[in-house]
Amino acid sequence: MKQQQVQNWTCEDSAELYGIRNWGAGYFDCNDAGEITVRIENSAGESRSVSLMDIAEGATERGLGMPLLLRIENLLDAQIARINESFASAIASCGYQNVFRGVFPIKVNQQCQVIEEIASAGRRFNHGLEAGSKAELIAALSILDNTESLIVCNGYKDEEFINLGLQAQRLGVQIFFVVETPSEVETIIKCAEREKVRPNIGVRVKLASKVGGYWNATSGDRSIFGLGSNDLIAMVDQLRRHEMLDCLKLLHYHLGSQVPNIRDIRTGVLEACRYYADLVEEGAAMGYLDLGGGLAVDYDGSKTNYTHSKNYSLEEYCVDVVEAIMDTLDSEAVAHPVIITESGRATVAYSSVLLFDILDTTRYEPVELQHTRISDDDHPMLRNLQEAVGSVSAKNLQESYNDALYYRDEVRSLYLHGQVSLRERANAENLFLEGAQKIRALLNEAEEVPVDLQALPEVLSDIYYANVSVFQSVPDMWAIDQVFPLVPIHRLGEAPTRSAIIADITCDCDGKIDRFIGRQEEQKTLPLHDLKQGEDYILGTFLVGAYQETLGDLHNLFGDTNVISVRIHDDGSFDYSREIHGDSIADVLSYVEYRPQELFERFRKLAERAVKEGRITAQQRKQILHTYTASMSGYTYFEK
Ligand SMILES: *Cc1c(COP(=O)(O)O)cnc(C)c1O
Repeated sequence: MKQQQVQNWTCEDSAELYGIRNWGAGYFDCNDAGEITVRIENSAGESRSVSLMDIAEGATERGLGMPLLLRIENLLDAQIARINESFASAIASCGYQNVFRGVFPIKVNQQCQVIEEIASAGRRFNHGLEAGSKAELIAALSILDNTESLIVCNGYKDEEFINLGLQAQRLGVQIFFVVETPSEVETIIKCAEREKVRPNIGVRVKLASKVGGYWNATSGDRSIFGLGSNDLIAMVDQLRRHEMLDCLKLLHYHLGSQVPNIRDIRTGVLEACRYYADLVEEGAAMGYLDLGGGLAVDYDGSKTNYTHSKNYSLEEYCVDVVEAIMDTLDSEAVAHPVIITESGRATVAYSSVLLFDILDTTRYEPVELQHTRISDDDHPMLRNLQEAVGSVSAKNLQESYNDALYYRDEVRSLYLHGQVSLRERANAENLFLEGAQKIRALLNEAEEVPVDLQALPEVLSDIYYANVSVFQSVPDMWAIDQVFPLVPIHRLGEAPTRSAIIADITCDCDGKIDRFIGRQEEQKTLPLHDLKQGEDYILGTFLVGAYQETLGDLHNLFGDTNVISVRIHDDGSFDYSREIHGDSIADVLSYVEYRPQELFERFRKLAERAVKEGRITAQQRKQILHTYTASMSGYTYFEK
């Protein structure tokens, strides 16, 4: 970065560099103090902003330090409202003759506090829940106390699952059983006849439409879920035989998550409507069309049909869905169904931000050594290296890089054979880094960057060590190369002068973040600030509300992080509405079947023996056992 650029840097430059306004959906921005803010609209329609730094500092003072998962309740409410209001306005403007009923798929974020918040914010829209297992159904039945909302049951269902649903139906709960496999119909019929309840049956169809994006395996012929047209006909006949065609009310499909292209959304709706119209024709009651999930989140803010983005707005999505249904069904004179979507990702992604601090950094730069001067006594190879580094210029980048690399490798090999000392080798490594950095600095001036040198900025970038476990907190980053916006939440008024990758606190070489969103394309390094002595440096990973929390694992026994929920009020003040302390070491040990009490007992014996053998005093034993107990109940992450 040029000196002038560094001096005149403002928050606006940071906002642009990190794309905050592109992926922030109006919820995130930065203020004049150089801090990221979360912005909400209050009940009077005025905008209110709160600095994430203020929220983080308050949490730390209350004993909920880094890493910390922030849940901003207002954003969850706002997304539910946006989805419902966008459908309502599409329905009104197109003259659609029915309503929208959203359901939130519990699997996307099963945390009790999140589901409770969705139930409460969704109440005025009759927003329901989707359950894919018995456990999720039990959660849904207990938390959703609104009989106008729907509960849609997907997934494999045994008799116990179906019986529970049928009993709940007696209480007035609107439950739909979506048939996923041909054999399930039989179980539903059997249970319903025994319980004497008319079930609401849905059917999941396998669409031929294939979609783009990462999760496209859930669409097309080989999709593992849903009925093909032959199974569908068999099911209709079976229901007719049992005089239950009036129970078949819902058609469901799910193209896969994060569908980046609006064309695929539209194609899916059109195909599903063909099935819908034919089921009406067959005499099924119908009335509900469930489009599943797939509404994407623009993680990189590029507004494209790239995997981590989407080329449509929520408004376009709603209008396209409504229009596509009308286009098909009107021509067949079929009444408009209730539109159901199971948007998970788009509902919860925005509301969670993962905050973590940086513990240390490594730089690939020469360090001050005492004897960096190469003298005549040093090995000739070191003098060659020094000469190569000394003659670097914009005209001979490739050549001097090759030379420096060659001489450095020669020194390494001499070291292996005992022909140079450790000090000489350190001098050689240092010289090499000096040369490489010189070359990197000149790359900007070169007319054409040689292919071999293109990766140099990356290879020489810093490593920032983060107090977080990628495996526990952002598993999709590790497992499926998902990118999330990653930004320092303060110091944005200063130019970031370093470029880095991030290594997490697990001792696993996969525990790193080296893919970042960029203005045009994905980046391999992230611009960051120098650490300041005695000052925390805090980064935020944004849009992590969907799928990340429960997919995470206990790699290296790093457990759940602290969680704090924030509610921002109309006047811009905020409350910590709920908090959960992260796992203690005793917690994670017991997850893997250790018994903390038993462990203590064994350690106590070891200490007692040491007293007996005269290695420590009884007072020292007390101190040691105290340290042990304090660790056992402490946080699994780095504590300051
Ligand atoms: C996972 C899933 C969803 C949620 O999809 P999103 O893309 O997160 O909205 C919805 N319906 C079904 C059946 C699913 O399996």
